Amino acid sequence: MNIAVRKTHVFTEVRKLQLYLADEKAKGASVGFVPTMGALHEGHISLVSQAKKENDVVIACIFVNPKQFNNPIDLKNYPRTPEKDITLLESAGIDAVFLPKETEIYPDNYAPAIVDLGELDQVMEGKFRPGHFKGVVNVVNRLFDIVQPSKAYFGKKDFQQVAVIKHFSKILHPQIAIVDVPTLRDAKGLALSSRNMLLTEEQKTDALALYYALEFAKTLTSNHTPKEVKKLIENRLNCDKFNLEYVELVDPVNLQALTDNWVQGATMCIAAFFGSVRLIDNMTIFPN
Ligand code: AMP
Repeated sequence: MNIAVRKTHVFTEVRKLQLYLADEKAKGASVGFVPTMGALHEGHISLVSQAKKENDVVIACIFVNPKQFNNPIDLKNYPRTPEKDITLLESAGIDAVFLPKETEIYPDNYAPAIVDLGELDQVMEGKFRPGHFKGVVNVVNRLFDIVQPSKAYFGKKDFQQVAVIKHFSKILHPQIAIVDVPTLRDAKGLALSSRNMLLTEEQKTDALALYYALEFAKTLTSNHTPKEVKKLIENRLNCDKFNLEYVELVDPVNLQALTDNWVQGATMCIAAFFGSVRLIDNMTIFPN
């Protein structure tokens, strides 16, 4: 990859990135940080746009973190488009991109973060992807140590991830503000995801069922309990076009399942397989 001709700074080494950041911070610049796994789309760019509004310097990271994949086939198939990603970030006006090798993130003397996630990683994604959030916490903690941004941006598309990151960073990086950004969807409602590029056109149409189900769930809250809404949506999504993994209706703060009473910000989360591609989506359904 020819990175020398680019306007945007592209760093592959921690040391050089930190020299650049030290220089910017010495000038008084606030730093906004957008961690990603690449295969970028407009959803990622919405994080960059928000970060640009709120910071003097914005840096994105592209790193497919092996430690957060519980399924080696998923890791192998994860889309990787670094050249295209850098071009997209450049046109979004990013200042710098960090594109590290695995040895930069996990050097020999690397010490994993130790933090108790309590119930937060026992439910939903944590239950179906054992070890996933430990991997997420480890990479984000390492990246926060390296970049030490003023603010870091995460998408609500990964609702549980935001809850986990807010929890761990309050303990290990209290000086960093965690900003959550609304989910960007395509014109039909499908949540943008790097994994969408692995779907056939037919699967993309089938995947809209998740969005429609979330919208439908909103209409049920006035005359059904959370337990009933969950059941109705499970029944609706039980079909032979895809494999539903879970539907959960949770409290947005502690992620505990709701049963009889609605709470402010009650969120429905869904995971399903379309062939071998696993998609997740969520929506605040109460108040609607
Ligand atoms: P990923 O590359 O999938 O790890 O995503 C990097 C960041 O972009 C995460 O904070 C995601 O939650 C966020 N993101 C992914 N898809 C979307 C979307 N459709 N809308 C908003 N943010 C998103």
